[in-house]
Amino acid sequence: MDIYTGPFFEQARENFAVIADYLEIPEHQRLRLLMPKRAIVVACPVHRDDGTESVFTGYRVQHHLTMGPTKGGTRYAANLHLGEVAALAIAMSWKCALTGLPYGGAKGGICLDPYSLSKRELEAVSRRYMQEMIPFVGPKTDVMAPDMGTNEQVMAWYMDTYSMYHGNTVTEIVTGKPVDAGGTVGRREATGHGVVHLVGRAMERLGIHPAQSTAIVQGFGNVGSVTAQSLVQRGVRVVGVSDHTACYYDARGLDVPAMIRHTAQHGTLAGYSTEAAFDPRHLLTQPCDILVPAAMEQVITGDVARKLQCRILAEGANGPTTPEADRVLNERRREIFVIPDILCNAGGVVVSYFEWVQDLQQLFWTEAEVSDRLNQVLERAFHAVMDRAQRDKVSHRTAALAIGIEKVQKAKLTRGLFP
Ligand code: NAD
Repeated sequence: MDIYTGPFFEQARENFAVIADYLEIPEHQRLRLLMPKRAIVVACPVHRDDGTESVFTGYRVQHHLTMGPTKGGTRYAANLHLGEVAALAIAMSWKCALTGLPYGGAKGGICLDPYSLSKRELEAVSRRYMQEMIPFVGPKTDVMAPDMGTNEQVMAWYMDTYSMYHGNTVTEIVTGKPVDAGGTVGRREATGHGVVHLVGRAMERLGIHPAQSTAIVQGFGNVGSVTAQSLVQRGVRVVGVSDHTACYYDARGLDVPAMIRHTAQHGTLAGYSTEAAFDPRHLLTQPCDILVPAAMEQVITGDVARKLQCRILAEGANGPTTPEADRVLNERRREIFVIPDILCNAGGVVVSYFEWVQDLQQLFWTEAEVSDRLNQVLERAFHAVMDRAQRDKVSHRTAALAIGIEKVQKAKLTRGLFP
């Protein structure tokens, strides 16, 4: 696995090693479970608005094809690299297995700063990326979705590009599309709603009343903004919020709907307020009941974990907690209730699965149907994780990963090795 490098890939490898030891997976089976099946790297040349040309590097990693097509988001970020994409693809596999979806994990993206391109340039590079990926993806092979830096519009461009190539509309090639382009109701909000549904379950277990509790949310994109809004709707006081341009804290509570209106108008949180401005380096360690990292990976380091003053850590982002931090959190198990990423943010892929099913059948569900079925899947996964953690006296993360990895291992063993 020499082509996959970087601290985030090492985190995926370390997380897997912990579980493989706990499940006593024989050494000779481990690489077959962890090694991604395919990695595709493409050059995406585009015309810039100033008349010059640029080439952006695009990636797609498909982790395993044992249980169905692969499924996973597409990330646009300035420092994206193959190791990060592979780590995210691997986590998607364990997440899909934990929630019982008939998928392997995948992830992709383009190494670019989405905030530095015009809309026309973004469309050009998105279409070119999908064009380059056509031989490797398909509704029964690999189904893309949004992730950091991409949104419903990008998914609509992907779907259109793929459909133009095939000569007919293939809505089931991507999920997270706008509803009027074959998307499902409830997909945009699914991840944030799922986070808050599970936070609700954790609060019940800890005896925390929403109206007397506070929350801090890092990241104010799709996951962060919907989570913050949904927490407010449940009566929680959101005291801290940040994105990559600004950070705000107010112990009396922030006006989340006004912040959502501000970002809808200006794109980011910058310029929302001068009074509540706060140092982002100290946001995660402020006292609160619910802490939701919903931006990037590896923000909860060992040092941050030792200083955390929350009671629930709800991992909206993928991989926000380093292995060192995880060991600290394990020691602080009685103080901090962790909802690990592959459970906490699974609402997104669950409703993506619903969208794919609806597109394949051309039979569309109501918002209530989507939300009821989402809650059922999350409930099942939450209780499975809690039961396993209690039974084996392991952390919630170990329990969640073990359930996922065990399912993939069983499927691989049952199918056998070809030829
Ligand atoms: P997004 O692009 O919509 O939003 C990302 C947010 O993070 C933005 O507000 C951005 O400003 C902020 N951000 C970036 N760098 C930051 C920094 N240094 N400090 C604070 N904020 C910063 O992305 P998203 O879809 O909301 O994804 C966020 C996280 O959730 C990612 O880890 C993603 O993999 C994960 N996730 C997303 C989904 C989904 O359905 N979109 C599903 C599961 C997991």
